[in-house]
Amino acid sequence: MVSGEDQKEDPLDFVLWKPKKEGEPFWESPWCEGRPGWHIECSVMSKKYLGEEIDIHAGGEDLIFPHHENEIAQSEAANGKTFAKYWMHNGFLNIDNKKMSKSLGNFFTVRDISEKYDLQVLRFFMLSAHYRSPLNFSAELMEAAKNGLDRIVNCVSNLNYLLENAQTEELREQEERQLVCAQGFVQKFDEAMDDDFNTADAVSAIFELVKFANTHVSETSSAAFIRAIKDKIVELTDICGLAVEHSQEMLDEDIEALIEERQEARKAKNFARADEIRDLLAGKGIILEDTREGVKWKRE
Ligand SMILES: [Zn+2]
Repeated sequence: MVSGEDQKEDPLDFVLWKPKKEGEPFWESPWCEGRPGWHIECSVMSKKYLGEEIDIHAGGEDLIFPHHENEIAQSEAANGKTFAKYWMHNGFLNIDNKKMSKSLGNFFTVRDISEKYDLQVLRFFMLSAHYRSPLNFSAELMEAAKNGLDRIVNCVSNLNYLLENAQTEELREQEERQLVCAQGFVQKFDEAMDDDFNTADAVSAIFELVKFANTHVSETSSAAFIRAIKDKIVELTDICGLAVEHSQEMLDEDIEALIEERQEARKAKNFARADEIRDLLAGKGIILEDTREGVKWKRE
């Protein structure tokens, strides 16, 4: 039990139990009334809720020393077992190349971002850098992430359209060879993820697969070929926690209901709401056309 640097035997010693301070909560202990040091709180909670050994311990890179090193020292001394098999330390998020902080006024929450962007876009953006590297957040980079994700979503929706209208079912010989080539991108994805979750390279492999789909799948492709390519894209994006199918697609009846609501809003001279609906539909790739016969719509 020490209360200051001068009472330590070795400057590298760290506090396990702190004597009580007036006005702070405290507990009885064999050493004195006091409270646990903050490193030991983690060792104790980890043991109580997760056991003596854990597979993965994560945290911000600022916690490596002294906090995580002290957790290892305490837990391994107490349990005689390896504390954590893997350590994952994430880099910091910067805003416009500056550290995010309340005092700089560049502080915002995920909820704030969700008001402007679909959270899938935020997730996709975070995958664009390795988790151990610092990540810079800016409006332009979020826009780029949105465009990137849209490219994948559009590709999948196009493949679904081609699949519905495919003329033949059976895989052709040439398509079989092309599938081997497409499988190469899946392998690239796996290798990147196996390399300490190199999500930036994994996402590039998805883009290569999308580019491959856009150049090699057409109206003349067999259903088996289209389905195989589409399934690969959906599988890889799913591993990344991204839903590129269905979620962004609107059902015809939902679109029609919104168009009707927009007509009502215009009649009531609520142009703000009318514009809002038009933008919402545009965001889902639905284009409206005002004609003499009424409003017509089509998918982008
Ligand atoms: Zn901790």
